[in-house]
Amino acid sequence: MRRVMGIETEYGVVVPGDPAANPMLASGDVVTAYAASRGIRPARASWDYADEAPLRDARGFDMGRGDAHPSQLTDTEDPTLANVVLTNGARLYVDHAHPEYSSPEVTTPRAAVRWDRAGELVMREAVTRLATVPPGVNLYKNNTDGKGASYGTHENYLMARSTPFASVVKHLTPFFVARQVMCGSGRVGIGVDSRTPGYQIAQRSDFFEVEVGLETTLKRPIINTRDEPHAVADRYRRLHVIIGDANHADVANLLKMGSTSLVLAMIEADAVGADLSVRRPVATLHEISHDPSLQTKLELVDGRRMTAVELLWEYHDRAAAFAEERSGGQPDPDTAEVLHWWSTVLDRLGRDPMEARREVDWVAKLAVLEGYRERDGLAWSDPRLKAVDLQWSDVRADRGLAHRLAANGRLEVLVDDADVRAAVTTPPSDTRAWFRGACLARFSEAVVAASWDSVIFEVPGQRMLQRVPMLEPLRGTEAAVGQIVREAPDAAALLRALATAGTDAD
Ligand code: ATP
Ligand code: MG
Ligand code: MG
Repeated sequence: MRRVMGIETEYGVVVPGDPAANPMLASGDVVTAYAASRGIRPARASWDYADEAPLRDARGFDMGRGDAHPSQLTDTEDPTLANVVLTNGARLYVDHAHPEYSSPEVTTPRAAVRWDRAGELVMREAVTRLATVPPGVNLYKNNTDGKGASYGTHENYLMARSTPFASVVKHLTPFFVARQVMCGSGRVGIGVDSRTPGYQIAQRSDFFEVEVGLETTLKRPIINTRDEPHAVADRYRRLHVIIGDANHADVANLLKMGSTSLVLAMIEADAVGADLSVRRPVATLHEISHDPSLQTKLELVDGRRMTAVELLWEYHDRAAAFAEERSGGQPDPDTAEVLHWWSTVLDRLGRDPMEARREVDWVAKLAVLEGYRERDGLAWSDPRLKAVDLQWSDVRADRGLAHRLAANGRLEVLVDDADVRAAVTTPPSDTRAWFRGACLARFSEAVVAASWDSVIFEVPGQRMLQRVPMLEPLRGTEAAVGQIVREAPDAAALLRALATAGTDAD
């Protein structure tokens, strides 16, 4: 049950000391320094057509259709507009004053975890090794500054356009209300500004105010309706999920992507079964997050009352039966792995939440915090606990508590460090990210811009820029175009070979 998916992560940025230093500029420095260190030139900033407005983004990441004249591209000096594509097919840019890594498109939850962690190595490299990032600037893979600001970790799932969106809303809302107990990253403080002392399950939950909506930074909705497919629009939707936390625990990260993808598969097949809608979803989302004992009961529209763990068992059992039936009794290994961890984690959470400390971020973090609380007799209002919370998500290997726990064998690790390191420069082979990344690696001098659905070349001797469209996420794979890309001596030859082969990489 493969599905095209990707994770975007905005990193928290801390700029100590110098009041003149600002996080926006520091974020720009992170992106430009990293790009420079890898010899990647920033995508040019504005992409204007005389007769066609840019499709989406004034910064030019998403471009219009057709070829264009080079004079229509303008370079920018402003580091806060920094925006590059890496050789692994990811996008690295500044969003809302945060450096953001948007993973390349992958097709399995395990690959999503791998390329998400690669993003963390990118950020770590920038703050620990690059001289052009001011000393002291540091990055955190978390989702709130604890003072009222939140920044996102977004999941993206390719879906059939034909699936009624009402059905996505109906079946995904209760799932998202409950999902946090296995995927939340935990935080010290209750309320958006952490005003009330305490510990809660998810970083993001308090920031959600409505059930459905288009916004991502104000009045955040449980279900986000943003609809920019970056693909053939009448065939596909890119479901943009903004409610999740950034994960360090591989198992929680795998479950976040894998369980959601399975629920989506059931929704697409109209096979979820009986309605599991919950009453007061937004209020319940907050209540569940505020109760690490997991005893809080949510109330279904049909009158039943159950805990979040029990609701997730309902989804699990339906998904397991669905996967069995779909595969003739032999789910593929990736699906089997997701189902295995899904039931294992629910089992542990149901018996005693602390049993899931190797698999689930919020539990692992809580165990560490309880250690400090016991040792030093700290109340939840003690600022030292907030400091521990922040240090949990520090991207530096020697400082970040989650990294130290993983290195000491106290977190379940699903993807080897060596595979993660390789993913910093290698694209996934089985999506169009392969073509994008390979073009950046081999012909970067000729690539003037790249987006999710196209790569644009400037070839010597050609007056117009050449745009290679990639509107099918599952084309442009290594199997499809690997030989052509490898054998082409230069970009002009590549474009000729693609034309002859009758392929656009899509
Ligand atoms: P933001 O929310 O920061 O404004 P965004 O959601 O528009 O940005 P990007 O930051 O550009 O998007 O990241 C897009 C993510 O979606 C990437 O992780 C990418 O791999 C993934 N993606 C791109 N196209 C598709 C698609 N058709 N289906 C599913 N995922 C996709
Ligand atoms: Mg983004
Ligand atoms: Mg997004």
